[in-house]
Amino acid sequence: MKKLFLIIGAPGSGKTTDAELIAQKHSYITHYSTGDMFRAEIASGSERGAIIDSFVSKGNLVPIEIAIETIIIAIKNAPNDVVIIDGYPRSDEQMNALDKYLEQEVEVSLINVIEVTVSKEVACQRVLGRAADAKIVRSDDNVEIFNNRMKLYTDPLKSIQAFYTSKNILTKVNGERTIEVIVNEIDELIQSKI
Ligand code: AMP
Repeated sequence: MKKLFLIIGAPGSGKTTDAELIAQKHSYITHYSTGDMFRAEIASGSERGAIIDSFVSKGNLVPIEIAIETIIIAIKNAPNDVVIIDGYPRSDEQMNALDKYLEQEVEVSLINVIEVTVSKEVACQRVLGRAADAKIVRSDDNVEIFNNRMKLYTDPLKSIQAFYTSKNILTKVNGERTIEVIVNEIDELIQSKI
């Protein structure tokens, strides 16, 4: 039985870094980031990558079929039973598609959805700071595209929160503290549920 944890958060919330650090600590945890998986596909030069790029470069959501397929393949291929996926769901449609998949997949159980919260100001500062950092080059880290990504994140958020709250599996984590404190809190939460 695979135990799935989702991490959602605004662009710049630190969700991918947090999940990466937790997976590094424990060899029995596998982590995937939807954004990283899409960037890898773009970098591969495939036709699918070119389609994905036409959405990612504008800060838009890649089509639902690609998003759900990407995470289902990732979950199935995960070498460990504890799987963290950050960056999904990003819409009601994605949330419902995953729910439908989970209903008929007895081998995968969604344990918790962790929302890393940051204010828009902090998110913006971090994303634009990342853009200024020559080590990390992301074509979608600029003010206009940031605003679009932020809006796309915020629009469905209430509905996503309500859905997972009704299932009693939503946990909010304050993402405005040091990485160490945030990672420890998420790590403890995961440890308490596996
Ligand atoms: P991130 O690295 O999480 O900021 O994601 C970077 C970009 O990848 C987003 O702005 C979207 O274009 C795309 N993306 C990531 N996750 C998803 C998803 N679940 N659904 C659709 N597009 C996504």
